Amino acid sequence: MIRVAVSGAAGRMGETVCEAVEGAQDMELVARIDPALGLDLSAALGVQHPDVLVDFSIPATAVANIKTAVAAGVHVVVGTTGFDVDEVRGLSGANIVMAPNFAIGAVLLMEFAARAAKYMRSAEIIELHHDRKLDKPSGTAKRTAELMQAAAPDKGLPPIHSIRLPGLVAHEEVILGDLGQTLTIRHDSIDRESFMPGVLLAVRKVASLSEPLTIGLEHLL
Ligand code: NAD
Repeated sequence: MIRVAVSGAAGRMGETVCEAVEGAQDMELVARIDPALGLDLSAALGVQHPDVLVDFSIPATAVANIKTAVAAGVHVVVGTTGFDVDEVRGLSGANIVMAPNFAIGAVLLMEFAARAAKYMRSAEIIELHHDRKLDKPSGTAKRTAELMQAAAPDKGLPPIHSIRLPGLVAHEEVILGDLGQTLTIRHDSIDRESFMPGVLLAVRKVASLSEPLTIGLEHLL
């Protein structure tokens, strides 16, 4: 059994992760960490001894949470977005998997967009999220832009447009334009369950990875 703690456990994503972990045959949910639930990370790590921490908290605290877990020898799966990834490079003691998007459809969108960027003249990205999302632009949109630039360095970073509205969950559209034509690639997460297979896969694999830091679900597929 993999012993799993969840930080941000009272949040929209954290609650869904707790349900998914409880429903997994090979995992045990050992701690729901969240100031809203009165449970502190250090206390939970010392008492519950999880194998893996899953962090879906807020940008302001994600780096501290990751450092605390790694220092305690606990592997970390990070879904939180909106912080500087460079702050957690070079940590040793446990492995980290982070992904701006754990939905397989979003991973495929990024791959297809990077491939298309080589052939179409220019592109722009529109990301649409619920109105309580703290970071802007989304981590997925920033990662999509980086992958497209890496595939077509001469075209630069595609501009990103952000929309925040009630009713939305997590959506992204890449529109590529060329002479007399456009190509639109779109992904919609209409339920937070869309992220759970990716999160559970990362929990199962994080301990066995050879690199201490893995960024992107595509490396685990
Ligand atoms: P949310 O605001 O609903 O939940 C955040 C929770 O974190 C809150 O319950 C808050 O009390 C808690 N929190 C605050 N400080 C904390 C601390 N020090 N330790 C532990 N918990 C703390 O947010 P959400 O919609 O659940 O999103 C959480 C994060 O996940 C965001 O950064 C969002 O962008 C990201 N996200 C990532 C993916 C992905 O696939 N990677 C998908 C959706 C959302």
